Amino acid sequence: MKFGKTTIDQISEIWITLHERAHIELGHFSILEGVPTFYLVSKSGRSQVQEPDLPPELWDKVERCLELQADHEALEEMLGTMQTADWAELHVITSSIAAVMVAIEKIDAQNQNPSETHPKAATRIFQLLGHVSDMWSIGACLNGAALPDERRIRAFSKEVILPAYFDAIEQARANDATSFLDDLGDPSVFFADISNAKLGHWDQLQTRGAQEWAELKEANEQILPLVYKYQVKNRTSI
Ligand SMILES: [Zn+2]
Repeated sequence: MKFGKTTIDQISEIWITLHERAHIELGHFSILEGVPTFYLVSKSGRSQVQEPDLPPELWDKVERCLELQADHEALEEMLGTMQTADWAELHVITSSIAAVMVAIEKIDAQNQNPSETHPKAATRIFQLLGHVSDMWSIGACLNGAALPDERRIRAFSKEVILPAYFDAIEQARANDATSFLDDLGDPSVFFADISNAKLGHWDQLQTRGAQEWAELKEANEQILPLVYKYQVKNRTSI
């Protein structure tokens, strides 16, 4: 996807549109039939999902998993691969997406009843930056290209990933999104969590964002077959 001179506000709007479109394309509305859901911000109180095809202990995780799925679809579409992306542009896009997540969390924080329908912004940004930091391997897998060397990977981290992380911190501070700052963690802990997540060392994750990501990732494995089932149903009914 090419962005050229697109403004940060426009990038944020594209992100929201792609996220909502992903909910439709992945058949999420069919899964949650009868449950009013997928507001941009959380709705109050407990999840109302009762999905007979899943163990009851997973029910309160379904909506949050579907949110992460929609995020993932949208960010794959927006970010492309490291080989094809302009790094400065990639930094702006990543920061703009993170800004939407922080803004949603800020609005959610004013909600009197803690919600179970949306993951924490820190969790969504953990997935986002984890994906961005993996982009060289995605490019190599898709195009059969050689993996970039250490120096290039470090440069990518310095020019894209770290600035995007600090932009999110800056935005949260400016908006007093204190819960987000607590959940995201300091840079050393946050990036150690990204490495541990990649290595599958989930029991060593320390930040709340990374821990929720791991909890939902595990639940997602059981929820995905349901998504495929409804996707097939949707396709055959068109
Ligand atoms: Zn959503």
